Amino acid sequence: VKINSVEFIKSSDGIKDCPMDGFPEVAFVGRSNVGKSSLVNLLMERKSLALVSKKPGKTQLINHFLVNKRWYLVDLPGYGFASAPKTLCVKWNEFTKDYFLKRKTLVMVVQLIDSSIPVQQIDIDCATWLKQHNIPSTLAFTKCDRKKKKRKTGGKHPVDNVVEFLQEMRLVTTQTYPWILTSCVTGQGRDELMMHIEEFRNY
Ligand code: GDP
Repeated sequence: VKINSVEFIKSSDGIKDCPMDGFPEVAFVGRSNVGKSSLVNLLMERKSLALVSKKPGKTQLINHFLVNKRWYLVDLPGYGFASAPKTLCVKWNEFTKDYFLKRKTLVMVVQLIDSSIPVQQIDIDCATWLKQHNIPSTLAFTKCDRKKKKRKTGGKHPVDNVVEFLQEMRLVTTQTYPWILTSCVTGQGRDELMMHIEEFRNY
């Protein structure tokens, strides 16, 4: 899938402020440091699209990028900052859930999961919430090229973490859902994810 153009349109601090031109949108969400900037740049064949500020405590914004003048790639604030105060987590929840529940042009969410670290409860919670609310979502596992860290206690191969995550999800939901293994180092999953987005874009 060729990317002819990517234009930054605007940052919004709530859904009332988001673009109103009706293009379908695909939103990207995940923990801070999950590899979102890297994956978005891989998808868009760009070196450095500026994504939402990554540091906790800054204003949380929704960023809209118009791709090929046909659909929006939406960058949402990251969740799960280790150092973030509880109030910030609550704010993330209100802000992002409002967007997920009320944004009519949202066609799909891509939830990024870091496959190089053990399964995180916050990722399970986010995926479960999306499913419970029937929001079409795809899991994109990032950093799948990383090798098992033998010396680190509990270090597992990325694929083991992916399997564990999927197993945990089956315990909490009976629905099936698409998932894709990706790596910005090898380019794995890039075309698959783009094709998947292209299918959804038309809904
Ligand atoms: P963001 O905070 O979610 O936007 O994450 P970044 O894209 O900035 O990536 C966080 C860190 O993970 C950086 O050090 C990246 O180099 C690294 N990273 C991201 N994607 C990959 C990947 O596919 N493979 C490997 N090995 N490292 C990655």
